[in-house]
Amino acid sequence: MLEAHDVPGGYAHTFSMHGYEFCAQVHYIWDCGEGGKINEFLKQIGLQDDITFELFDEDGYDHMIMPDATRVKIPYGWEGLQRNIEAAYPQTTGLDDFFKVVRAIRKEMANLPKQVHWWDYIVKAPFFPTLMKYRNATVQDLFDDCDVSIEARTILTAQAGDHLLPPNELSVLYFIGLLGGYGAGAYYPTRHFKYYMQRLVSFVEEHSGAVYFEEEVVSIDVRDDAVTEVRTRSGKTFTAKNYICNMDPQTAAGLIGWEHFSRRERRLLEYDYSDTGVMVYLGLKSSYQPEKYGFGNHNTWHCFDWDMNTMWEAGRKLEVEKTWLFISTPTTHSPDTTSTPPGGHIMEIGTFTPYAPFKAALDKGHHDYMTLKMEFAERMIDLVVKHHVPDLRDHIEVRVVGSPTTNEDFCLAPFGNAYGSAMRPEHTTTRLDARTPFKNLYWCNASAGSPGIYGTVLTGMNLFERLQENAG
Ligand SMILES: Cc1cc2nc3c(=O)[nH]c(=O)nc-3n(C[C@H](O)[C@H](O)[C@H](O)COP(=O)(O)OP(=O)(O)OC[C@H]3O[C@@H](n4cnc5c(N)ncnc54)[C@H](O)[C@@H]3O)c2cc1C
Repeated sequence: MLEAHDVPGGYAHTFSMHGYEFCAQVHYIWDCGEGGKINEFLKQIGLQDDITFELFDEDGYDHMIMPDATRVKIPYGWEGLQRNIEAAYPQTTGLDDFFKVVRAIRKEMANLPKQVHWWDYIVKAPFFPTLMKYRNATVQDLFDDCDVSIEARTILTAQAGDHLLPPNELSVLYFIGLLGGYGAGAYYPTRHFKYYMQRLVSFVEEHSGAVYFEEEVVSIDVRDDAVTEVRTRSGKTFTAKNYICNMDPQTAAGLIGWEHFSRRERRLLEYDYSDTGVMVYLGLKSSYQPEKYGFGNHNTWHCFDWDMNTMWEAGRKLEVEKTWLFISTPTTHSPDTTSTPPGGHIMEIGTFTPYAPFKAALDKGHHDYMTLKMEFAERMIDLVVKHHVPDLRDHIEVRVVGSPTTNEDFCLAPFGNAYGSAMRPEHTTTRLDARTPFKNLYWCNASAGSPGIYGTVLTGMNLFERLQENAG
């Protein structure tokens, strides 16, 4: 395995700062319980008792704070979710119809064949009526169809950072996939993401594999219908029987040469990227007590306006005070205390921002970039001070800020994208999968499968099965 960075994990890697260990981007994942895909994967490799998970609070794994300061908890299960929304806003409309469609889509999704061929749309379409109806729909389309009221829309999309798209652009199928995934169990690794990633690396090494860090692939050579070798920035050449490409497929296609791809393949590869954001990582001294401020074994999403579409427009203009904040508190999810100095806590604050202003500032120079980034981060901290922890600044021991260009620097994510290709309807049903025009090259990345940790594990497992079938 060739990894450009000096640590494993991609977006799930961990960096340390003065005794505090921060996972770069991942905060919660799903399908880790008995019968879930991540659990199944760990069982297959015998690590299910080694890499274990903690379940977020059952009565509210996400807490949504509305602009009028109402706190709505998102519990596991659709009934509880509808109940909580209607209890907070008794004038709510449209949820019966909305959840009827959501349930039907979940049921039909579970019955989908692993690989969908074009003829399935004709032959099997009658068995998937709701999926067929909504396959090109946005979340907004479904809200409009069901006449869902604004309060419910805002609560249901308050976790828009999990897709980094507003409802009028987001595919309803991705939305329901994620809401249903977390709604069946939201998890955090007991020994933090650092151990999860490192243990997978040591597993590879224990099984005759090798992981080479700081080896960025900069060229992929092909002859006829096969990859012949890859070269890294350090000048080394690597050859293998099969090549599995976890880097962004669009970038890899550029390294190979676009002329090797058919028109159809190019169309699939020329996706636009998902949005990105700023993340503020805070190491908090033992003087800080999370429960005193309403933080615990859940995430907090704070909306500063009604309507996620409007908030997205504000985010595009860097008006953080009119958009939303995500507040993650990893140290409240696990009894393991090794990620901080004694008694310490971690708080991570995120929001959506476009890539362009940060890139423009960086191109102007370090001073311009740091000024933009740090001033923006202080505005995010100001919002947490105003609404949640009035004395937050007294507790801060470590402050690190990641921007869209940080994502690009450390994870080589083009334009700092968070989830690979944007989760719009056009990238949903016609989507890249593992296949390439080369007999020994396979894509295996969020854009050639599904995003998120659940998505990447599923994508990897599907590819493993394909390789087994080819070998057998
Ligand atoms: C702000 C944010 C929050 C998120 N929160 C969550 C969450 O809570 N839960 C969740 O499930 N998902 C979350 N995600 C999404 C999740 O992190 C990604 O979808 C997932 O990590 C994608 O996995 P990947 O393997 O496709 O890509 P990556 O994780 O980006 O891994 C790609 C790897 O390839 C390496 N690489 C790239 N190019 C080269 C090259 N040329 N040579 C060698 N190595 C190379 C990179 O260094 C990196 O290690 C979040 C993402 C962001 C940005």
